[in-house]
Amino acid sequence: MSEGQSNSLAATAALGAGDSLWQACMDQLAQEMPEQQFNTWIKPLAAQVSDDFSRVTLFVANRFKLDWIRAQYSGRIAALLEKIYGQPVQLELALAIREPQARSYSAAANSEVGPVVEAPEIEGEIPPGGFKNRLNTALTFDNLVEGTANRMARAAAMHVSGTPGQLYNPLFIYGGVGLGKTHLVHAVGNKLLADKPGSKVLYIHAEQFVSDVVKAYQRKTFDEFKDKYHSLDLLLIDDVQFFANKDRTQEEFFNAFEALLAKKSHIVMTSDTYPKGLVDIHERLISRFDSGLTVAIEPPELEMRVAILINKARSESAEMPEEVAFFVAKNVRSNVRELEGALRKILAYSRFNQKEVSIPLAREALRDLLSIQNRQISVENIQKTVADYYKIKVADMYSKKRPASIARPRQIAMYLAKELTQKSLPEIGELFGGRDHTTVLHAVRKIASERQNVTELNQQLHVLEQTLKG
Ligand code: ADP
Ligand code: MG
Repeated sequence: MSEGQSNSLAATAALGAGDSLWQACMDQLAQEMPEQQFNTWIKPLAAQVSDDFSRVTLFVANRFKLDWIRAQYSGRIAALLEKIYGQPVQLELALAIREPQARSYSAAANSEVGPVVEAPEIEGEIPPGGFKNRLNTALTFDNLVEGTANRMARAAAMHVSGTPGQLYNPLFIYGGVGLGKTHLVHAVGNKLLADKPGSKVLYIHAEQFVSDVVKAYQRKTFDEFKDKYHSLDLLLIDDVQFFANKDRTQEEFFNAFEALLAKKSHIVMTSDTYPKGLVDIHERLISRFDSGLTVAIEPPELEMRVAILINKARSESAEMPEEVAFFVAKNVRSNVRELEGALRKILAYSRFNQKEVSIPLAREALRDLLSIQNRQISVENIQKTVADYYKIKVADMYSKKRPASIARPRQIAMYLAKELTQKSLPEIGELFGGRDHTTVLHAVRKIASERQNVTELNQQLHVLEQTLKG
């Protein structure tokens, strides 16, 4: 640490004001960056520091700069703020002036830089009748790429939007984060409105529903509340796992649910897990959730990830050569939101450097992301994570014990080791207490085939995969 820096740290501690935190961060950045870069990107930023120092918001002049700062500097800035303040500081980037046409794009927050927070959710259109449907018109079936991972869910959703109130009511869609659940339900609403403009459609996030219930309760306006919800033709309700432990909300939702089904209105729900996997939700609701059609969205397979990248690039008027899309898709595997984040980085990098999109450029733009991924998944890590999850000892991963309560998690860990690392079967066998490669092969095949048929197992594997991929 240079002397200049330690002085500014001391000054910050002494002053204890928000401005000095940002000032100290700028001082440090000025030392480590070329002057011209600093003057272009960092100096013009206006910073707002929350009273408790837990959050710093940087205001950026336009969308392009925001993307660039997010991609290039936000990680470093967040790290510096944490170092100076001594505790994690949440970093937010915001547009100084709002650009309406960029809104749908800004709502798709990226998750690749941990400390950066999502832009606020967008409001839907307000049609002439004054009824706010909260739909995001940018999320349609047209721009939702189809693949094995979402084929069932997409087909069911498509069917519902064509003939609501008939088959598959309610439609319950579940899957991990960033797999397109929210996109899909908006698509249902948008298509119904395109076909039948007079329909009463409402998209609502479960948390918003909870707060509607609370408001109705406080203001004693349950009649209005019921008018609003019970009169819909289509209710799209996102992330119902947020109803957990909210008894009053669950009761009101149950009432709305019954009323809507009775008049053949359609209900589409999403959740991060299948109905019986939900916790702290009343049994009668869970059984209602499961009474129509329940479909999963899986993480996208390679070809689908490639198609999504190419499509998204095109929608931003950029070309992504197929070989580059393959390179990115092979390296960014967990979900679509991450893919979008990677694409944004690459496009910003290419525009800024005025270079064509190529594999070396992508490698350069995604440097941080790729190094994190390579670091993350080791067989040891898998063994520990799986052992924790199934509450067995890590040592049992190498032991000769054979009761099912131990042998099965061990097989699951072997399967994940094959899936998520580059290790060969004999290498994996070696790491599991010197087992033969045929034992590993047997485990891999068994878990892979069971996964196709047993929802619970599939769900557990998703949780483990997401945990391991970070
Ligand atoms: P979830 O609600 O499951 O967390 P979202 O619907 O918010 O996921 O999707 C995350 C991002 O990925 C969104 O920007 C969405 O438009 C995009 N996305 C997801 N699936 C697809 C797909 N199949 N084709 C194109 N874009 C997708
Ligand atoms: Mg969502």
